[in-house]
Amino acid sequence: MIVIDPSYEIQDDLDQGSLVKRLEACGRICYKSEEKISEGSALPFVKKIAEHGHNSVMEMAVVTLRLQCSSQQIADFLRCQPKFFVVDLVENGLLVTGSIRAFRELYLSFPEIALAQAMVDFLGASHSYLLEGVWQPLTRQGVLSIAVEKMTLEQVEQLEPFLLLRHRFLSVKFIVNRAVTHEIVRHRPCSFLQESQRYCRYSQDKFGNQVTFIRPLFFVPDSAEYKLWQQAMELTEDLYLQLLETSTPQAARTVLPNSCKTEIIVYCNLAEWKHIFRLRTSPAAEPSMREVMIPLAAEMEKRYPELFI
Ligand SMILES: Cc1cc2nc3c(=O)[nH]c(=O)nc-3n(C[C@H](O)[C@H](O)[C@H](O)COP(=O)(O)OP(=O)(O)OC[C@H]3O[C@@H](n4cnc5c(N)ncnc54)[C@H](O)[C@@H]3O)c2cc1C
Repeated sequence: MIVIDPSYEIQDDLDQGSLVKRLEACGRICYKSEEKISEGSALPFVKKIAEHGHNSVMEMAVVTLRLQCSSQQIADFLRCQPKFFVVDLVENGLLVTGSIRAFRELYLSFPEIALAQAMVDFLGASHSYLLEGVWQPLTRQGVLSIAVEKMTLEQVEQLEPFLLLRHRFLSVKFIVNRAVTHEIVRHRPCSFLQESQRYCRYSQDKFGNQVTFIRPLFFVPDSAEYKLWQQAMELTEDLYLQLLETSTPQAARTVLPNSCKTEIIVYCNLAEWKHIFRLRTSPAAEPSMREVMIPLAAEMEKRYPELFI
């Protein structure tokens, strides 16, 4: 068995790449198949994911659009209560941030709404592959009167604090135990993708033919308690590997414990990160959660001192 410390990483690198590469990089965490990423791999991977209905992958990239439109068009849009978007009134129109999934589903539900048409037409012009099966290029009267502009990350970073908190989405990859991820996924405004014990077979070479566990901060190394924990993990690993000889990973995983290492990507706006830090760094929070959240919160405070202090 392997024992490692927990860690986290703010995924700045993904902010620099294309939408489809971002979706692939996140989606592959489920299968731990990052080694398959190559120059041409993103598009087929994302198409297959969309076909199979693995919808949360399509939540892992957001786009912020600035729309110049009439108040009637805004009213029509708001009347359909668009879900999973951040929407703010700004000069001459709207600021809208949504994931690829949110745009796809908005258009499926409300194809007749001019703002939905305009946004999806705009995205479709440069990213039609992300809207496959949902959208056909159309030119309609209503859409022509709406000016759509995509905001760059740099422009989003320049927004005033209230809008920055709401429209800046940031993803963090955590390597933690499964008790911690069980708690993180309770934060409903976030999108998540997690290493899947259904698909990952830890007896494979790429996992070192063994199970990886997160070192529990509760027990001093070499103490009697730590030795008991270690004994339990060794026994569990042995049983898991025996089960894999005749069973699938999803069956064998039924013996795996909370201490098992897992990877999870958490993607949400800064307002939600602020909420998460308030709850998950407090003395009432679970210590293994605080172990990663306290240093992460400190890093975010350094980046956005006006928002997080
Ligand atoms: C110290 C601690 C102990 C806990 N113990 C337990 C426990 O014993 N058992 C247990 O089941 N859970 C427990 N939890 C989980 C906790 O109850 C919340 O589910 C979790 O922290 C998510 O936070 P949240 O609900 O505030 O906000 P999020 O889900 O992060 O949502 C952010 C905000 O969106 C709004 N929001 C989202 N969804 C809704 C909704 N459906 N209705 C209204 N407003 C909404 C709220 O304003 C909320 O503050 C614990 C959490 C902590 C921090």
